[in-house]
Amino acid sequence: MPPAAAGESWRALYPDVAADQWNDWRWQMRHAVRSLAELERYVPLTEAERLGCRDTAALFRLGISPYYLSLMDRQHPFCPVRMQAIPVHAEARVRPGELEDPLGEDKTRPVSAIVHRYPDRVLLLALDSCSTYCRHCTRRRITKGGETELSRAELEKGIGYIRAHPEVRDVLISGGDPFLLTEARLEELLQPLRAIPHVEMVRIGTRVPVCLPMRVTEALARLLRKYAPLFVVTHFNHPKELTAEARGACELLVDHGVPVENQAVLLRRVNSEARIIKELSHALLRARVRPYYLHQMDVAEGCEHLRTPLATGVQILEALRGHTSGLAVPHLAVDLPGGGGKVTLQPEYVVERRGQETVFRNFRGETYRYPEPEETDTSCPYDEVWRRRNA
Ligand SMILES: *Cc1c(COP(=O)(O)O)cnc(C)c1O
Repeated sequence: MPPAAAGESWRALYPDVAADQWNDWRWQMRHAVRSLAELERYVPLTEAERLGCRDTAALFRLGISPYYLSLMDRQHPFCPVRMQAIPVHAEARVRPGELEDPLGEDKTRPVSAIVHRYPDRVLLLALDSCSTYCRHCTRRRITKGGETELSRAELEKGIGYIRAHPEVRDVLISGGDPFLLTEARLEELLQPLRAIPHVEMVRIGTRVPVCLPMRVTEALARLLRKYAPLFVVTHFNHPKELTAEARGACELLVDHGVPVENQAVLLRRVNSEARIIKELSHALLRARVRPYYLHQMDVAEGCEHLRTPLATGVQILEALRGHTSGLAVPHLAVDLPGGGGKVTLQPEYVVERRGQETVFRNFRGETYRYPEPEETDTSCPYDEVWRRRNA
């Protein structure tokens, strides 16, 4: 599948814009489309989209970078880019079971910038804005604005919390999109985090490589490399998003020694077919991005029309495991509503457990047996010695 030509499709939509403006992420942000009236100048909207923009205007933010807008198919409302960025009428309805805080994060927010759910890692909320607002956003209570002022003082409190909690060895910076911060503001975050001896690694969750790839500059990549081990976790959902520009952004990071992982979300009628997820995984790996999670959609408000049955994800994994590179198979995660945390689902390959033998089916549906060993003591005698020597 050939990638879209770099910097070509946008010229029809923005004929008066020079390439150096287009490739300047600040220009992109200044010209993001933020209203129904503006959007109608670029895309012939359906009635459902028009009503969606109108009826969600007071509920959730609308914002689309010119770059992401330029990827839209103007003829097809089921275009995956369009469906992720333009609200439809169904989004204005909150369905039973949908929650303002679907992951129960606010119950485990010791300070406003920190969500501390798991024993050894925290989520640090750095800001409340994005380059493009996903219609399936799980943290829309934050990105709709006004919920918290994630000010410099709040971020300092968050860093203070991490400093005071030696069990935190992994910090995941998210928001909003941390890459909308300037290099100087990012350093203000990363420098003190890195200086905390028990923080072993940092992850940054961002959709910039997908929606605003020109933000990934040489300067940004160099800055991130200084704070290794630092992983960038991005959010491609469809192979259409892996344009030459997007791939260039990922490869620039990887070339500078910054590993890039992808978390996709299963979205009904956007990517809810095995062949799409497979193609997405292959396109990611070609760009040296590792598929990490495939998320079952959270029960965030206004998202029900985009949710898939749980069985869909399992069927997709079944079509991947064994049929393609293991590196192309993400973990299928369900983040339990109300704050239970992530659990994973996978196809059932165990057919039967008999005392000393387990019967499996493989990816082709053939049956195989695995015998248990006789010895069952799994403790490691050298471990105590090794620990003493390293103490
Ligand atoms: C998803 C998540 C993490 C990271 O989980 P991993 O499985 O380690 O990727 C950490 N904190 C919160 C609150 C999360 O939702």
